[in-house]
Amino acid sequence: MILLDEIDSSLKDLKKRSLIRKRVVVSGRKKNKIKINGRWLINFASNDYLGLSQNSSIKKAIISGINKYGNGGSSSHLVSGHTEAHQNIEKITKNNIGFASSILFSSGYLANLGIITTIAEKDSFIYADKLNHASLNDACILSRGKFIRFPHSDMVALENHLKKNKIKKKKLIVTDGVFSMDGDLANIPELIKLAKKYDAYLYIDDAHGYGILGKSGQGILEHFEKKDSIKKISKERIIYTLTLSKAVGISGALVCANKKIVDLVINKSRAYIYTTAEQPALMYGIKRSFEIIKKNHSLRKKVSDYVYLFRRLINQKNLLVDSITPIQPLLIKDAKKTIKISKLLNELGLYVPAIRPPTVPIDSSRLRVSISALHSEGDIKKLAQAINEIVKNEN
Ligand SMILES: *Cc1c(COP(=O)(O)O)cnc(C)c1O
Repeated sequence: MILLDEIDSSLKDLKKRSLIRKRVVVSGRKKNKIKINGRWLINFASNDYLGLSQNSSIKKAIISGINKYGNGGSSSHLVSGHTEAHQNIEKITKNNIGFASSILFSSGYLANLGIITTIAEKDSFIYADKLNHASLNDACILSRGKFIRFPHSDMVALENHLKKNKIKKKKLIVTDGVFSMDGDLANIPELIKLAKKYDAYLYIDDAHGYGILGKSGQGILEHFEKKDSIKKISKERIIYTLTLSKAVGISGALVCANKKIVDLVINKSRAYIYTTAEQPALMYGIKRSFEIIKKNHSLRKKVSDYVYLFRRLINQKNLLVDSITPIQPLLIKDAKKTIKISKLLNELGLYVPAIRPPTVPIDSSRLRVSISALHSEGDIKKLAQAINEIVKNEN
């Protein structure tokens, strides 16, 4: 229990270390811009990579869903909230990704919590990448399994941990597909090999990969589909989660797994059972969004062209991290300096958030630039020039 005067000093301490957080109030969104404090800024802070949150055919689909089912979710999935529309999205997803079964959660956070706490138990061993998303870490802690974190993408360290543990049967490897603050990809082929070799489950949270990676946008498994370890793999041991809040442009998450796991979740997962089902109308929008993602290769091409353009235009290459995705952080490191640069960009009409600890490790504060199909080539050039100029003056 925290005491009132402890709260004061805790907040003061955050302020002193440039780590205090405030919410910005957004009063409008239109194409590539957001309105903050009465000013329209070019938005480089959204996960709406394909611009689908603004798509008019998706809006229409959601409205048709509202006309059929009404505004709300009305009840949990196990009571009367599970509609034909929800069922249909699960079916489309398992077919698209190529799994036996799929289940819908109301958010990515809940999906991670709901799955990991259901399959990992007290006597389980969980091996997690050090840079996994906070929701995965929370899920691992809440599961009460033994939570072992290996250095980021260090497959040798992971194998050493797995090796030490030959007798124990219950093993789960947990990873982001695309790491959310760096934009780099998990080494999925190697992780699958290790999962197979050491008889472990592999949980992949592909929040930032779905819609972006793979030739038809079906995420990181499709991206690596030509690798031998993936071609041969039975998906029995893989659990694949995509969120609907990022490239899909709506909200919620879908988990693909074998049927036994999905049945267990329906019966045991508290994060699945004790919450209201997502508004059914959204399923109509998600269906339309899935269609666009599968067919519209030009959207993905546009985003990846922007990514290459941005990387080429940044003068100080040492600020860039190794990322082919729309997540293009610039590693400034110092929290105070990062905030200052973010403010200067804001004055030029460019909204780029400063990401600081505890979201990222200490001394790795960064400007997290997100690139979207809503941007124009001019937006990308303007941002790169502004960053080049500001960084040069700061050094
Ligand atoms: C955003 C994100 C989540 C959470 O998804 P929500 O639908 O926003 O709750 C989970 N995992 C990763 C890697 C994310 O980036």
